[in-house]
Amino acid sequence: MSTMTLPDYLGDAKRVREARAPIEADPFKGAFLTTICPGCGHDVNALVVDGPDPVFADLVCPRVGCGHEWTEAVT
Ligand SMILES: [Zn+2]
Repeated sequence: MSTMTLPDYLGDAKRVREARAPIEADPFKGAFLTTICPGCGHDVNALVVDGPDPVFADLVCPRVGCGHEWTEAVT
Protein backbone atom coordinates (compact mmCIF):
# COMPACT_ATOMS: atom_id res chain seq x y z
CA MET A 1 0.00 0.00 0.00
CA SER A 2 1.39 3.33 -1.03
CA THR A 3 0.23 6.89 -0.88
CA MET A 4 0.86 8.94 -4.00
CA THR A 5 1.43 12.62 -3.63
CA LEU A 6 0.78 14.41 -6.87
CA PRO A 7 2.36 17.76 -7.56
CA ASP A 8 -0.08 20.64 -7.65
CA TYR A 9 0.49 21.24 -11.35
CA LEU A 10 -3.21 21.79 -12.02
CA GLY A 11 -3.29 24.55 -9.46
CA ASP A 12 -0.18 26.12 -10.96
CA ALA A 13 -1.68 26.01 -14.45
CA LYS A 14 -4.84 27.65 -13.19
CA ARG A 15 -2.89 30.41 -11.51
CA VAL A 16 -0.90 31.07 -14.69
CA ARG A 17 -4.09 31.21 -16.76
CA GLU A 18 -5.67 33.67 -14.34
CA ALA A 19 -2.53 35.79 -14.31
CA ARG A 20 -2.59 35.98 -18.11
CA ALA A 21 -6.29 36.78 -18.37
CA PRO A 22 -6.78 40.24 -19.84
CA ILE A 23 -8.11 42.84 -17.50
CA GLU A 24 -11.73 43.63 -18.32
CA ALA A 25 -11.84 47.29 -19.25
CA ASP A 26 -15.48 47.71 -18.26
CA PRO A 27 -16.65 44.90 -15.98
CA PHE A 28 -20.17 46.30 -15.80
CA LYS A 29 -20.72 46.49 -19.55
CA GLY A 30 -23.50 44.09 -20.41
CA ALA A 31 -23.71 42.86 -16.82
CA PHE A 32 -27.47 43.31 -16.73
CA LEU A 33 -30.19 42.67 -19.27
CA THR A 34 -33.63 44.20 -18.98
CA THR A 35 -36.06 41.43 -19.75
CA ILE A 36 -39.04 39.54 -18.42
CA CYS A 37 -38.20 36.79 -15.96
CA PRO A 38 -39.86 33.53 -17.03
CA GLY A 39 -39.84 32.45 -13.40
CA CYS A 40 -41.86 35.28 -11.84
CA GLY A 41 -43.12 37.15 -14.92
CA HIS A 42 -41.78 40.52 -13.80
CA ASP A 43 -39.73 43.04 -15.73
CA VAL A 44 -36.29 42.67 -14.20
CA ASN A 45 -32.72 43.78 -14.71
CA ALA A 46 -31.48 40.22 -14.97
CA LEU A 47 -27.92 39.58 -13.91
CA VAL A 48 -25.83 38.19 -16.77
CA VAL A 49 -23.73 35.44 -15.22
CA ASP A 50 -22.28 34.18 -18.51
CA GLY A 51 -22.27 35.83 -21.91
CA PRO A 52 -23.60 37.27 -24.07
CA ASP A 53 -21.52 34.88 -26.15
CA PRO A 54 -22.90 36.66 -28.37
CA VAL A 55 -26.14 34.80 -29.05
CA PHE A 56 -27.12 33.52 -25.62
CA ALA A 57 -26.76 34.90 -22.12
CA ASP A 58 -27.19 33.01 -18.87
CA LEU A 59 -29.36 35.15 -16.64
CA VAL A 60 -30.38 35.22 -13.00
CA CYS A 61 -33.49 36.99 -11.72
CA PRO A 62 -32.50 39.55 -9.05
CA ARG A 63 -35.89 39.48 -7.34
CA VAL A 64 -35.82 38.28 -3.74
CA GLY A 65 -37.67 35.01 -3.49
CA CYS A 66 -37.31 34.22 -7.19
CA GLY A 67 -33.69 33.80 -8.24
CA HIS A 68 -34.79 32.01 -11.40
CA GLU A 69 -31.95 31.06 -13.75
CA TRP A 70 -32.45 30.82 -17.48
CA THR A 71 -30.75 31.24 -20.81
CA GLU A 72 -32.02 33.82 -23.23
CA ALA A 73 -31.14 34.65 -26.80
CA VAL A 74 -29.85 38.19 -27.16
CA THR A 75 -29.76 40.23 -30.33
ZN1 LIG B 1 -37.93 36.13 -11.38
